[in-house]
Amino acid sequence: MADCLFCKIIAGEIPSTKIYEDEWVYAFADIDPQAPFHAIIVPKIHIASAEEITADNSGYIAKIFEAVAKIAAKENLADGFRVVNNCGKDGGQTVGHIHFHLLARRYLQWPPG
Ligand code: AMP
Ligand code: ZN
Repeated sequence: MADCLFCKIIAGEIPSTKIYEDEWVYAFADIDPQAPFHAIIVPKIHIASAEEITADNSGYIAKIFEAVAKIAAKENLADGFRVVNNCGKDGGQTVGHIHFHLLARRYLQWPPG
């Protein structure tokens, strides 16, 4: 999608620090980390938000969670981690390309604020 920040990051038009990549998924370091480890994981197709997940594109979401397990193993996140998807205005979504935050290396409060 022409005007999407994360599509531009996937295309390499905007620089990012790569953490993981495969055919379906790209993961990079969050520019404003909320934990000592904070990755953003995105599908390599433009899906605007969790509201737009369908039977046709949900395979990409499954691939994101396969990537979570691979990143956790590679980065030694054995103490635990949290995967977060913010959706829409009240969910705090600020970038309109679905993404999953992978947060780790500190105790994560529950419930979140
Ligand atoms: P959300 O608020 O859930 O939509 O998350 C968007 C996330 O993208 C925030 O945590 C931002 O810090 C992060 N972000 C925005 N621009 C960039 C960028 N150019 N590179 C890396 N992360 C970014
Ligand atoms: Zn996009």
